[in-house]
Amino acid sequence: MFIDHDMHIHTHYSPCADATATAEHYIQKAHELGLKKIGFADHMWDSAVECTIPDYRKLTYEHISQIKEEVKALDAGGIEILFGCETECDKNGTVAVSEEVAEQLDFLIVPQSHTHLTMPKDCYEPHRKHAEFMLERFYNIVESPVSKYVTTIPHPFCAVACPYDNRELVRLITDQEFSDCFRAAKEKNIAVEINAGAFAGKSIGEIRTDPMLHMLSIAKSAGCKFVFGSDSHRSTGHDGFFKNYVIACLLELKPEDIAEFAR
Ligand SMILES: [Zn+2]
Ligand SMILES: [Zn+2]
Repeated sequence: MFIDHDMHIHTHYSPCADATATAEHYIQKAHELGLKKIGFADHMWDSAVECTIPDYRKLTYEHISQIKEEVKALDAGGIEILFGCETECDKNGTVAVSEEVAEQLDFLIVPQSHTHLTMPKDCYEPHRKHAEFMLERFYNIVESPVSKYVTTIPHPFCAVACPYDNRELVRLITDQEFSDCFRAAKEKNIAVEINAGAFAGKSIGEIRTDPMLHMLSIAKSAGCKFVFGSDSHRSTGHDGFFKNYVIACLLELKPEDIAEFAR
């Protein structure tokens, strides 16, 4: 299967991205990788929702929409560009986007694994508590009043900036628990992201036996659709993109397993 999209790209309008993360760079990269569709997904917190993460206060819909002007001035050479965002859940599990803003987006990514930002520190130990936090957030997103706008759970269960090996958390979640939450996502037509970044530094042999790959195979069995995302934050952000082919091959993905909006 040819991978012809990347639906998780940060531009320089995300504070954690750098100045090389321009629309121009990504269009050029898309041509190099043979992508026909790319999606900008900068970090966003809708000003209509009370902000509980101070660093996100400035990251309004208006702020991230500036990339549209940058794109307008360029020739994408036939590449389709979607405008979405990666928002957050607040401390109560409320998705930080209003219906009004969600309506404007081509796609909407909501992570349950940004635990470094959204989880109380006392949930790091014991590790099962951390795993349960991600399970709870998964359901918060899938059952949210804006769930019909949510297109993607990015880097599922891949706890970001975890002080210990985040695979430990995946091992602490049962196949049944994974199956139940992926079935719930499938019911809401929410796709699961395949993010090669989650397999950084792993050999093909290691990817094959990685509990994260096993988790993705459960998502497939649950009937979930998939979407590829680089989560690029800079000009080198696609260096590991080829690994998505290894993952797609091991999961035996076919074009019909890809979410409609990414096709
Ligand atoms: Zn993320
Ligand atoms: Zn991201």
